[in-house]
Amino acid sequence: MGMSAELDLGLERRIGKRSAAVIEKHLGLTTVGSLLNYFPRRYLNRGELTLISEVPLDEEVTLIARVLSNSTRQMRARRGSITDVVISDDDGKPGLRLVGGSDYRGKVPGTLKISFFNGFRAKKELLPGRRALFSGKVTSFGGHLGLTNPDFHLLDEDPDTPGMDPEKLAAMPIPVYPATAKLTSWSIQKVISTLLETVDLSELPDPIPAAVAAREKFLPVAEAYQLIHAPESPADWQHARDRFRYQEALVLQSALARRRAQLAAEEATARRPVADRLLAAFDRQLPFTLTAGQAAVGKTLSAELGQDTPMNRLLQGEVGSGKTIVALRAMLQVVDAGGQAALLAPTEVLAAQHFESIRRTLGPLSRDPMLSRDGLLGGLAGDAVQVTLLTGSMPTAARKQALLDAASGTAGIVIGTHALLSDNVSFYDLGLIVVDEQHRFGVEQRDVLRSKANKPPHLLVMTATPIPRTVAMTVFGDLETSVLDELPAGRAPISTHVVGLAENPGWAGRIWSRSREEIDAGHQVYVVCPRIGTDDDGDFSPGEAEPAAADLEGDGAARELASVTAVVEHLQGEPALTGVPLAPLHGRQDPAVKSAAMADFTANRTKLLVSTTVIEVGVDVHNATLMVVLDADRFGISQLHQLRGRVGRGGLPGTCLLVTTLEPGHPSRRRLDAVASTTDGFELSQEDLKLRREGDILGASQSGGRSTLKLLRVLEHEDIIARAREDAQEIVGQDPALVRHPQLAEAIDEYLNPEKEAFLERG
Ligand code: ADP
Ligand code: MG
Repeated sequence: MGMSAELDLGLERRIGKRSAAVIEKHLGLTTVGSLLNYFPRRYLNRGELTLISEVPLDEEVTLIARVLSNSTRQMRARRGSITDVVISDDDGKPGLRLVGGSDYRGKVPGTLKISFFNGFRAKKELLPGRRALFSGKVTSFGGHLGLTNPDFHLLDEDPDTPGMDPEKLAAMPIPVYPATAKLTSWSIQKVISTLLETVDLSELPDPIPAAVAAREKFLPVAEAYQLIHAPESPADWQHARDRFRYQEALVLQSALARRRAQLAAEEATARRPVADRLLAAFDRQLPFTLTAGQAAVGKTLSAELGQDTPMNRLLQGEVGSGKTIVALRAMLQVVDAGGQAALLAPTEVLAAQHFESIRRTLGPLSRDPMLSRDGLLGGLAGDAVQVTLLTGSMPTAARKQALLDAASGTAGIVIGTHALLSDNVSFYDLGLIVVDEQHRFGVEQRDVLRSKANKPPHLLVMTATPIPRTVAMTVFGDLETSVLDELPAGRAPISTHVVGLAENPGWAGRIWSRSREEIDAGHQVYVVCPRIGTDDDGDFSPGEAEPAAADLEGDGAARELASVTAVVEHLQGEPALTGVPLAPLHGRQDPAVKSAAMADFTANRTKLLVSTTVIEVGVDVHNATLMVVLDADRFGISQLHQLRGRVGRGGLPGTCLLVTTLEPGHPSRRRLDAVASTTDGFELSQEDLKLRREGDILGASQSGGRSTLKLLRVLEHEDIIARAREDAQEIVGQDPALVRHPQLAEAIDEYLNPEKEAFLERG
C-alpha cells in the first residue's frame, strides 16, 4: 500500500498502545486513516450570549450550565428509567451560555429540567455541582421548558479543554464527535489532537486531482484534516468539510463511472426478437393496450437486449404503472431467443405473488411443469414457457426439481428470492435478470447473480418508489434509467385519511360502519394488519414491515399490534358487519387455503379481506374501493403508498384509512401525514428520504461491505454530486484504469471494501 502507508498505519504507532486500544474497543477503528476520517458530526459555534431564562421553545440550543440536582425513577408503563437533571445558569453570570437561534419566546426562571430515558451516563456523570455543555431541542412539558435526551459534555473533567475559558470557548467552534456511552466526544477530540500532532500530514494522499482541486479552490489535504478536527473559526471547518464532501462524491462517482465503463466493455449474448413466438402471442392475447410509456420502454429494452453488450437499466415507475408487463415482455423476448430469465423479488411473499400473477397473465403461454415433464404435452413446448418458483422455504423435493429445471434450461423463467443467489443455483443459459424493488438489493448481490450466467447477462432493475435524481446517480449510478410516468387508463383517485384513535377513540367503530356502507354499495374492503398472530413474537409478514418504520420509535414491544387472527375474530362479532362474508389471508397459510381466499375475494364471494401485506403486489381486484390499514405507523412510506395502490383500480374512486393509536405529533405519525397529503410518489420519496436514515435508503446494510456516506447528503448536495459525476466521467473516460490517478484508485478500493483494514497487520 505504498501511497497511503501513513493512512494504513496501526493507530498505536501514532497515539500509543493505550489510546489505540480504547479507540479500537469503543469505535472499532484501528488505523490512522480511519481515525483521521472520523469527522465531527457537527460543531458548536459561537452564538448569542444569553440566559437559560431566555432559551427559545422549539429550537436547538447549546448552553453551558451547572447541575443542581439529579434523580432517577423507574417508568411505570414500560421497562426503563428516566433520569431528571435540573440545571441552572452558572453562578447567575450571563455570558457563559451559547445559544443558537434567535427567536426568543417564553420566559422561564433560570433553571431547566432535562430528562434522559435510560440515561445511565447522565445518572453517573451529571452530579450536582458539575458544569457541562448541553445541546438539544427545547420542548415544553406542562408549561415548563426542558430538554429531552440532549447531548452533553462535562466541562470540569479536563483542565486543558477550551471549555474552561468562556472567552476562548466563545471564539472557537467545538467539534462534536459521534460518541458512545463510554467514550465522550471530548475524549475523542483529545485523542485526535494527539494524532494530528504525531501524524505526518504531508504524507497523506489526495484523491482529488490537482486540476479539480485548483478549480474548486480546495484546501490542501493536510490542512483540511487539521481544520476539520481543530478549527479556529467556523470558516475553517466549513472549508475543510467542503473539500471532504466533494472528495466523497468524487470517489463514489468515480467508482460508479469505472463500473459503468467496465460493464460497457463486457460482452453479452444478443437476444434479438424472434417473429411469431411467445412475445408475439403474448401481445396478441393482452386484454389491454400498452400505455405509451410501456410501449416506449419496451422498445428501448428490446433494442438493448438485441445487442451484444449487456443492458444495465433501471426502470422506475409509480405503483400500478405496469412495470411487470414490461419486464415480462422483455423476459419473453429472451426466452424466444433461447435464453432464460430470472426474476428476483425481495421477499418470499412477493416472489410467490409474482409467480402467481405472471402465470395468470401468461395464461396458456405458461407451461405447467408437471405436464411437460411427463412428456404428455411435449408438443406444446415450443408454444409455452415453463415458469418456476424457487424460494428458500419450499419443500425439499419441489426445491430440488426447481434447481434441476433451472440448471437444465427446462425452466424459461425462474422467479425467486435471495435463494437464487445461493451457490447451488445454476442456470443453463441465463440471459436476463430482472430485480424487483431494487432498493433492498445492493450492487454486490447483483454481481452474485450476474456471475451465474456464462456471459454477463442483461439486467433490468425495477423500483416502484420514484427515486430522486441524485439518489439514482448515487445508488444506481451504474445503471441507465427509464421511467414509466403514466398510469394505465381507468385509475380513479384515491383519497387517504389518517384516523387517530388516540384523540378520537370513537372512530374505531366508525371504521367498520364505513366499511359496511362500502359493502352495501356492492364494493369490497381490504383490512391490512402488521402482524399475523397475537402470540408469536416478531412475525411481521416476512420482510415487509420496513425496519426503518419500526426503528424510528422503538416502542414496538410496548404496543399490542393488530394481527390478522385477532382482527378476524373481532370483526366476526362486530355489529356493523353482521352477515358480511370475511376471510383472513397471510403468508403462513397453506398455499391451497391462500389461493382459495384470494379466489373468493376476486370473485366477490368474500366482501372483506383481512390480511398482512401479502396484498402489496399482484392483487388486482377492481371492485375493492376501501382499504383500512391498522397500526399504519408500523409501515414505511413507500409501503403504504404501494398498499393503497390496491384500491381505486376499476374506475371507482378509492379510499384509504391509515389507522393509528399514536398521539398526534408522534414522529411516526409524520409518515402517515405525508402519505395522506399527496399521491405523488416522487414527493413521497423525497419525504421518505428525509424521515429515514440515509443508510437505509442507500441499502448499505444490505449491500455488504459498502460504507455509508459521511458528509454527503443525497438530497441536499445535488449540485456537488452532479459536478463530481461530470468530473468522474471525464477522469475515467480518459484513464479507465486510473493509472494516472493512483490515489483516487486507492480511495475507491477503500470505499468499496472498508473491511480491508480489518485484515491489515496490527503491529
Ligand atoms: P407495478 O408497476 O406496480 O408493478 P403492475 O405491473 O403490477 O404495476 O400493474 C398493475 C396492474 O395494471 C396489473 O393488474 C396490470 O395487469 C395492469 N396493467 C398493466 N398495464 C396496463 C395497461 N396498459 N392497461 C391496463 N392495465 C394495465
Ligand atoms: Mg410490481
